[in-house]
Amino acid sequence: MKGVFPIDKFRNIETPFYYYDTSLLRKTLDKIKQETSLYSNYHVHYAVKANANNRILSIIRETGFGADCVSGGEIKAALEAGFPAHKIVFAGVGKADWEIKLGLESDIYCFNVESVPELDNIDALAASYGKTASIALRINPNIDAHTHHYITTGLSENKFGISLVHLDSVLDHLETLKNVRLIGLHFHIGSQITDMDSFKGLCIRINEIQEHLYQRMIIVDSINVGGGLGVNYEEPDKQSVPDFKSYFEVFHKHLKLRPKQEVHFELGRSVVCQCGSLITKVLYVKEGVNKKFVITDAGMTDLIRPALYQAYHKIENITSDQLPEEYDVVGPICESSDCFGKMVSLNKTQRGDLLAIRSAGAYGEIMASQYNCRKLPKAYYQDKI
Ligand SMILES: *Cc1c(COP(=O)(O)O)cnc(C)c1O
Repeated sequence: MKGVFPIDKFRNIETPFYYYDTSLLRKTLDKIKQETSLYSNYHVHYAVKANANNRILSIIRETGFGADCVSGGEIKAALEAGFPAHKIVFAGVGKADWEIKLGLESDIYCFNVESVPELDNIDALAASYGKTASIALRINPNIDAHTHHYITTGLSENKFGISLVHLDSVLDHLETLKNVRLIGLHFHIGSQITDMDSFKGLCIRINEIQEHLYQRMIIVDSINVGGGLGVNYEEPDKQSVPDFKSYFEVFHKHLKLRPKQEVHFELGRSVVCQCGSLITKVLYVKEGVNKKFVITDAGMTDLIRPALYQAYHKIENITSDQLPEEYDVVGPICESSDCFGKMVSLNKTQRGDLLAIRSAGAYGEIMASQYNCRKLPKAYYQDKI
């Protein structure tokens, strides 16, 4: 046993695999529960897209959170894991008819709507069921979350959401539709946000929008502020549970609510990221011209974030106690971008060593692919290994 990893047990498991520290997940969930319980009107919907592993979903569901889904498949995964339909919200810029029908048949809590044609389609499908669909408008608040451009979503010319410029005409149009009911406003400004000022900016913008709606005599039931709270990828052990206290406090301090209004949060990464690691075996240590390469049996098919977003993950050799040396850590896939880290300091590494690629619980296993005809990685759990 080194650090948090049961290495003896790992030796008997086929690599690569995901390892989830379920006690850390529970600790994280308890912290969120504790912080949100300070505010009677705060509700959390876990963003299923970060990790839809059934066991992880079940543990999250046990805490009483709802689910934020972005596809029909995610709605099915959430229902299968026991999330009640009335705690499921459905977002996404391109909802297919079968997905909307699934939401209507299941009587989910709310559709987060991103465009007028989508609104018309939900209205028509709801009419065919003789139902009224509850909807929230996803509004693009034009807030720069100062994060990677691929994961910034709140700027005005962006495929997500309805631009503020169009808000009035969308509200006018809504009044003509009979089978949808506006119950909320939805926002999501991006991901991996660690600067609380971005969320403060969002609150201020929401207050302006609420002021505007009030003039039209509209008060919605819920304000959904999305997700986006970041985690510490550099030092996962220093901050294994994200700073939920400051996060929820920002909204408490800056968001102006009408009486009885609820605030909904859609946290994904911050819930599951630190509890997961990708465990991989070193196949070879290869001498380059000026550097050494550690070649692992895990590749971008198991964890694509470094290749896709140039994301940093801390890498540790969990089976060597020797002095550190510098290596480029690369996978076996036939793509140059299949690299987990450059100039990584690892305890002297040799063939057969096990590496832990940390903070891989979010957007890790769920993004795995079978490119190169590879197997999907399996998952193991700290309380059941
Ligand atoms: C991705 C996403 C989330 C979750 O984002 P995190 O950064 O993982 O917290 C929440 N809401 C919406 C609409 C999303 O698209």
